[in-house]
Amino acid sequence: MKTDLKHYTVAEVVEGFVYNDYEGKGLYGLAGKLTIQPEYQRNYIYNDGKKDVAVIDSLLKGYPLGLIYFNVTDNGFEVLDGQQRITSVGRFVTGKFAIRLDGREQVFSSLPADLQQKILDSDLLVYHCEGDEKEIKDWFKTINIAGVPLNAQELLNAIYSGPFVTEAKKEFSNSQNANMHKWSSYVKGDPKRQEILAEALAWVADSQGVGVDAYLAQHRGDTGIAGLKTYFTSVIDWIGSVFTRPPDKEMRGLDWGSLYERFHAQSYNAAALNTDAEQLLADPAVQNRKGIYEYLLGGKTDSQLLAIRLFDDKTKAVAYQQQTQKAQSNGVSNCPLCAVGDNANKTRIYKQTEMDADHVTAWSKGGNTDLANCEMLCITHNRAKVNR
Ligand SMILES: [Zn+2]
Repeated sequence: MKTDLKHYTVAEVVEGFVYNDYEGKGLYGLAGKLTIQPEYQRNYIYNDGKKDVAVIDSLLKGYPLGLIYFNVTDNGFEVLDGQQRITSVGRFVTGKFAIRLDGREQVFSSLPADLQQKILDSDLLVYHCEGDEKEIKDWFKTINIAGVPLNAQELLNAIYSGPFVTEAKKEFSNSQNANMHKWSSYVKGDPKRQEILAEALAWVADSQGVGVDAYLAQHRGDTGIAGLKTYFTSVIDWIGSVFTRPPDKEMRGLDWGSLYERFHAQSYNAAALNTDAEQLLADPAVQNRKGIYEYLLGGKTDSQLLAIRLFDDKTKAVAYQQQTQKAQSNGVSNCPLCAVGDNANKTRIYKQTEMDADHVTAWSKGGNTDLANCEMLCITHNRAKVNR
């Protein structure tokens, strides 16, 4: 890749700056010759009132903003690296956010003229880069942009950039999408960091038994995203039809794609599921609340998903003592199951380390995890009972 170092002033770079609020990105600079966010770039993420403000502070203090890279294209330039910094400066100069100066909120137009000029005259060091698409993407893949590394999906978007990724980002990476609120009840992540898109892609790719890379490679040139969108919507609608109560936070971030694949062909009684869900959510013995939905969909058989609370050491010690005393005075084994059988261990007194605690009435049948419902069994009998 050929590189060539140039100097620009801030005024030159932000001339004709356009920021798109709807898509959350800076679009153009250098009087229209510079594309600030080519499609392989990620959305603007500096507008947090800290990183964007820090960029302006640096300029006011005369600190350099660091190296910026432009990709030379047929009709101008695209920002390869520096998009977040340029967008911050452009947004400030066009009055999109304020900074604090000597304890006062200031927008660009309210700054003293000399400070305005200082910003506009700041020198930006820019490398013009020329290379083919592959070289540029490979290079892009190896850099960390302004200290915030690209995440896996942002990289995939760069590698498989094209009409499909562009359309997919419009749908799934746009925080203004009217469906985003509903989706975020079930899908965890920040649309701007491509995390909703990543989940949508993972679900559809999984359902076809391929990796996300392969899926993107296959669809890279598609001009529509119907398959991706239909599958995602089917999963989301299915969740809402099975669990009709308002979503709770435990539902967020589950692997709904795989739950849909496993269970969507079954029919469920929504009212009964709702009651069960409410009950389990309120049960202090359920330690893994995230497992509630898979447990219910699977017909309430696999209670390991819920990580039911075990007996604590104190309860076990007291139960052991009580049981052992009683067994010794009756001349039988302190494992109640050994004691009733006709076997070699009929009168054996086990050490506590040779026994384990068991629910007399199973948790799934309403048994509590307390002393009254705790029974120590020898390890052999305990295993046999757990596996039953
Ligand atoms: Zn036993």
